[in-house]
Amino acid sequence: MGAVIPPLPTRDDQFFWDAVAEGRLVFQRCGDCGLVRHPPQPMCGGCGSLALDTSESAGHGILCSWIVSSRPGADDRIAALIELDEGVRFVSNLVGVDRDGIEIGMPVVAEFHDMGDGVTLPQFRPASAGGGG
Ligand code: ZN
Repeated sequence: MGAVIPPLPTRDDQFFWDAVAEGRLVFQRCGDCGLVRHPPQPMCGGCGSLALDTSESAGHGILCSWIVSSRPGADDRIAALIELDEGVRFVSNLVGVDRDGIEIGMPVVAEFHDMGDGVTLPQFRPASAGGGG
C-alpha cells in the first residue's frame, strides 16, 4: 500500500483533482449567486441553481479543528479542517508544525505534496513558519 489512499475522482470533482495535479486549488462557485462550495455538488446550497462556475483559491486560510490520525505501519498525521479565505471549509493535513505549536485559528497556507504513485495532495502549513512574509 502506498503512503496515502489515492483519490478516486468522479465526474463532479475531476476538475478539482486536475487542478491539484497542477498545484492549484479550484472550487465550485455558483454561476448565479456566486457562493463558493466544497466538496463539489451539482446544485447550489444557497440558491438552488444548477449554473456552475469555478473559482481559484489563493490557498490561504485558518485552522478550524484538528486531530491526530494514526494508522498501523504509518507515521501519525495531523488531519485538519481549514477554513479558506474564500469561505469554504476543506479537510486536509497540517504539516511543518509540532502538536505543541498548533493553535486553533492560526493562519495556514496550502502547498502541494507529491505523495508517490502519481498522487499529488494539497497540504497546509502554518503561514508564519519559514515564510516571513
Ligand atoms: Zn447559488
